[in-house]
Amino acid sequence: MKKGVCPKCQSKEVYSGASVSMKSGMSHSNTIPVTGFRMAALDNYVCGQCGYVESYVAKEKDLAAIRKKWPLAF
Ligand SMILES: [Zn+2]
Repeated sequence: MKKGVCPKCQSKEVYSGASVSMKSGMSHSNTIPVTGFRMAALDNYVCGQCGYVESYVAKEKDLAAIRKKWPLAF
C-alpha cells in the first residue's frame, strides 16, 4: 500500500497520512502503546475508493523497541 496500490480493490488512489501534523498529539491519537508509557505514532494509508486503511509504525526507533519488547505472534 505504501507503493500506492490498494491490496483490497487494486485502486491506485491511495492517500498517505505520513506527513499529517500532530499525528501523535496529547491524546495519543493515532498511536499504539509499545511498552509502559511509550507510544508509537503511526503512518496511515487510506484507499480513496474502498476506504481501506493500513497503518505503519512511523519511527524506526519505535519499531526497534517493539522488536525488543514484544513476543512474536506465533
Ligand atoms: Zn481499496
